Amino acid sequence: MFCKFCGKEIAPGSAVCEHCGAKLVEAVNTSGTGNAAVVPEEIKGLNWSAFWFGWIWGLCHNVYVSLLVVITGAIGFIAPKESGFGGFSGVVGLVMSIFLLTKGNELAWRGRRFESVEEFKAVQAAWKKWLWPYIAFLVLLCVILIIVIALCGAKFLQQCK
Ligand SMILES: [Zn+2]
Repeated sequence: MFCKFCGKEIAPGSAVCEHCGAKLVEAVNTSGTGNAAVVPEEIKGLNWSAFWFGWIWGLCHNVYVSLLVVITGAIGFIAPKESGFGGFSGVVGLVMSIFLLTKGNELAWRGRRFESVEEFKAVQAAWKKWLWPYIAFLVLLCVILIIVIALCGAKFLQQCK
């Protein structure tokens, strides 16, 4: 067998030419085919957008397991405080975030159709652009919440006197 790019002789069945490094077998794009999908090595790695955006990111990539956080969060919100479900939903949220951080790319490749690895990377890069504005928004929200709680607490203490 000879390389079709450089013409040198190579071992039969080679996927990559040992002389010029050209790819001889085009990797089949299996994105969006669920468990049957073969996840390309180059997209593996941490996905911080999936970590921070959570179920919003999951919904856009057909990663529906991320919606578990919404369900437990909603139950935690309406469940009585004594049940401890609020804390439980917090733990579920944290575990899910870490799961999406490490497995997000793989789940997205399995869940949604991408034209190519390049398109996948472009989509993730677009999410990443919104990451810092989003985190800044969350921090701002927390600061406002803390101020409101502090003000309400002060008002409450005044009434006690
Ligand atoms: Zn070659």
